[in-house]
Amino acid sequence: MIPYSKQNISEEDINAIIDVLKSDYLTQGPKTPEFEKIVSTYCGVKYGCAVNSATSGLHIACLALGVGKGDIVWTSPISFVASSNCALYCGATVDFVDIDSLSYNMSVTSLEEKLILAKKKGILPKVVIPVHLSGKSCDMEKIHDLSKEYGFKIIEDASHAIGASYKNQKVGSCIYSDITVFSFHPVKIITTCEGGMCMTNDENLYNLLLRYRSHGITRHAEEMKKKPDGLWYYEQLNLGFNYRLNDLQSVLGISQMKKLDSFVKERNIIASDYNDLFSGSQIDLPKINSENYSSWHLYIIRISNNNGLNRNSVFEKLRNNGIYVNVHYIPIYRQPYYQKMNFKLEDYPESEKFYEEAISIPVFPGLEDQQKQKIISIISEPFGHQNLF
Ligand SMILES: *Cc1c(COP(=O)(O)O)cnc(C)c1O
Repeated sequence: MIPYSKQNISEEDINAIIDVLKSDYLTQGPKTPEFEKIVSTYCGVKYGCAVNSATSGLHIACLALGVGKGDIVWTSPISFVASSNCALYCGATVDFVDIDSLSYNMSVTSLEEKLILAKKKGILPKVVIPVHLSGKSCDMEKIHDLSKEYGFKIIEDASHAIGASYKNQKVGSCIYSDITVFSFHPVKIITTCEGGMCMTNDENLYNLLLRYRSHGITRHAEEMKKKPDGLWYYEQLNLGFNYRLNDLQSVLGISQMKKLDSFVKERNIIASDYNDLFSGSQIDLPKINSENYSSWHLYIIRISNNNGLNRNSVFEKLRNNGIYVNVHYIPIYRQPYYQKMNFKLEDYPESEKFYEEAISIPVFPGLEDQQKQKIISIISEPFGHQNLF
């Protein structure tokens, strides 16, 4: 079976974990701040707050930005449900901005149109969460400009995008956002088994993230309401959670960070091989412009249901041949839980079209040439009387 993505764990990774198992710290110890420092230095951002998943990271990012009941949060419908669930956890209302037909990221044009309308109605969002689908950054400069004009905050859901760049800056630099969130789930670019990190340049937001990560508790005297009555003293100031990353996970993250650039490079090579192998076919290939360096978490092809071609039959054929392709993603508004909120499919024509046509084919470090060839040959086999090429 060839999965669409998977982790890459070396002997070095394993030995690093064994060393921590023999140390004094199993839960959050010295390895977590070390991991945070490595990731923040890599991204060129001031602070990193490691958490036990990107889902937790998105949740506390919303809380740190003050999202609560009565607030509105917008995101892309072509994403994992965590991108919008985070707002619902805070009691806010969610709405979606349709995607761009070429990048499959949130459309800046649709965003602007929706903002103009929302301003007239007095229902502007407090936070917008652009998602860097497949590891290719959204047009953050334009989204940032709109945030200044319409007064919303920005959380980048960069779950797919550690190691990617936009306008020669690493994703995670937070130049165009308040907080950026990474995921270290095994299918993503680097892994800590489960895990994530919130990046920010804002000291105040950073302190709030730390607090929400651990029960809403502070041990900093300057943040306390009362005078400490001893060295044991701490105060709970908010209703926080236990979202900490442990030292075993953090040391795996440290070890994986050493390989991040080579992982991303290999993913870029695979993507470029696919581009060559598919060239001249009727398959829509992922497009990338010069301002982006993608981390290629996903390689999404689109097969439109005409000329005798059919996405579903290609998908089934790949699965039947042991190629575990997938569809990223079912538009979030289509989920039964979200359908209760009365979203209308016709409000998202580009997302609907995307959902009919997309397949994520395998891309991960270690994918062999032979496997790539197999995937290509299965896709290019004749369909009835019609050949794809
Ligand atoms: C994977 C993913 C998440 C959630 O990540 P976890 O670390 O599994 O919580 C959120 N958003 C997007 C876009 C993702 O792909």
